[in-house]
Amino acid sequence: MENFSGKAIFRGIAIGTIMFYTKNQQQVRRTKIDNPEAEISRFQEAKGKASRELGQLYDKALKEVGEDNASIFQVHSMMLEDDDFNDAVIDKIKNQHVNAEYAVAKTGDALSEMFANMEDEYFRARATDMKDISERVIAKLAGEEGEVHLKEPSIIVAEDLAPSETIQLDKNMLLAFVTKLGSSNSHTAILARSMNMPALIGVKIDKGWNGKLGIVDGYNGELIIEPDENTLCKYKKMQKNELEKRELLKELKGKDTVTRSGRRVRLYANIGKPADLTGVMENDAEGIGLFRSEFLYLGSNKFPTEEEQFEAYRKVAETMAGKKVIIRTLDIGADKQVDYFNLGHEENPAMGYRAIRICLSQQEIFKTQLRALLRASAFGNISIMYPMIISVGEVVQIKEIVKGVMEELEAEGIDFNKNIEQGIMIETPAAVLISDELAGEVDFFSIGTNDLTQYMLAVDRQNPKLESIIDTHHPAVLLAIKMVIENAHKKGIWAGICGELGADISLTETFLSFGIDELSVSPTFVLPVRKAIRDCE
Ligand code: PEP
Ligand code: MG
Repeated sequence: MENFSGKAIFRGIAIGTIMFYTKNQQQVRRTKIDNPEAEISRFQEAKGKASRELGQLYDKALKEVGEDNASIFQVHSMMLEDDDFNDAVIDKIKNQHVNAEYAVAKTGDALSEMFANMEDEYFRARATDMKDISERVIAKLAGEEGEVHLKEPSIIVAEDLAPSETIQLDKNMLLAFVTKLGSSNSHTAILARSMNMPALIGVKIDKGWNGKLGIVDGYNGELIIEPDENTLCKYKKMQKNELEKRELLKELKGKDTVTRSGRRVRLYANIGKPADLTGVMENDAEGIGLFRSEFLYLGSNKFPTEEEQFEAYRKVAETMAGKKVIIRTLDIGADKQVDYFNLGHEENPAMGYRAIRICLSQQEIFKTQLRALLRASAFGNISIMYPMIISVGEVVQIKEIVKGVMEELEAEGIDFNKNIEQGIMIETPAAVLISDELAGEVDFFSIGTNDLTQYMLAVDRQNPKLESIIDTHHPAVLLAIKMVIENAHKKGIWAGICGELGADISLTETFLSFGIDELSVSPTFVLPVRKAIRDCE
């Protein structure tokens, strides 16, 4: 087994036989001709054939990879008709009395070199196109037809691949591309992406690989030749998972999150920073159920300003365009330490000075965040959520502070949502046991099973030695979840889960039987959970 690295231009896994592709390059010789007019006719005829072939390639590409990607063949047709190219070829035949093949090859090389030396990356990538065009005309002069046949599904390994070569390969037989040359901006790379083909460039290729078994790992930019049994097994599994995921994506995007009997569950995503929004969109989450606002504090060496926070919250709210965005207020402390907070050493940080406890004792920090959140609420559908609650008193105090901040904003004439939804995380046993009372004070509950499990079971979630005893399915945890949902419903508010357990599809049916209203999971779990819900009665 040997590993080679390259630059991945499309993610994915391919396993199959390697076909080393060598161009049918003509050995172009210079010969002296006596009849330049006849030679020019030969050139025109070959050019006509090349042009017709480009038309056919355009039609094939249009069907297979869409108009944008097919347009490269229109560009080739135009380059083929370009005066600089044609005049240079004809001039060489006429004045140097050389054969058409030689005139085309020399002209193609010169123009290709000119492109290769250009500053602009787009034009540099056209160097390969120019070579492709001249080789096509030379092939026609030699009477060649340009089909490439693959007998079995193959990983194509080549020095370089021109767009026309890429598109001529039978898509059903093609598993991946690996090339030594090429750039991620080249059309071949663009075509590979649009064909959903794993592809690597910049790999030190070897002719001796022809016919051998290979694995293309488009995630890590690796080519593995003759993998051992373990590696093959690992990649087969990865490929299976990938296929399953892709199928899910295809099937479930845009579909409702609803059980067979018609019960709807809101399926949201958890994010930690605005950049995670791409994953939210790609996986079709219906909203954001937990935006951990700590990133603003952790990624800084000073307290983030109201303006910085406002911009981040507004961006998320605007991107979600009216869909719900639940932003959790600062949950610093315990495992999330920030120097400038000067939290100091604690014997039991998980049960220490953290989250809402800090916000209620250092109210300026809290008020700055609340002002930013409320201001951003004028730009989308924002809700606020408070972490680590253990008493009704805390909630009453929070609501007082929020009221004060709202009055301030109103006095300043700043717009915000006066009816903004406010909810709490249920992640302490105390909050579970008094959830009937708490439900009367807030608009929703979101169960933080990560912390709830550690506090219910008295098992530190950070301690790797306890990995085997942290039983997330513990009956006490499940009972707590059931109780919280029931108490929420008794007071007419909704309850969801935003801890990792929400994505555990072996429990989806149980959560539904408890009456769960919402699940908020990591973006990559949105579609698997949607499937699990749709499979339930
Ligand atoms: C939780 O505790 O379940 C939770 C979602 O919050 P975090 O993981 O950020 O503590
Ligand atoms: Mg938590």
